Amino acid sequence: MCEPDTGSGGAADLYVYDPETLSTAQCMGDACAVCHVQWPRPRTVLGALPDGGRVLGCGECAELMGLAPRSRTAHALTAVR
Ligand SMILES: [Zn+2]
Repeated sequence: MCEPDTGSGGAADLYVYDPETLSTAQCMGDACAVCHVQWPRPRTVLGALPDGGRVLGCGECAELMGLAPRSRTAHALTAVR
């Protein structure tokens, strides 16, 4: 058919968070959107904000949400440098 393939919108699959449910640090990507941890810094994208910002989460929460890139890799702890 004539439906466009994914290429124009971007971030279409991300869950959109309500900024009012997040703290300032969470909106800034400085804290995990789930457990508020700020260190180690959250670096996994858990979702997006209505204004296009990214909502980040720590690896553990991302894994719980099924968003971790390699959630079943036992050796992932030493993979990132
Ligand atoms: Zn977390």
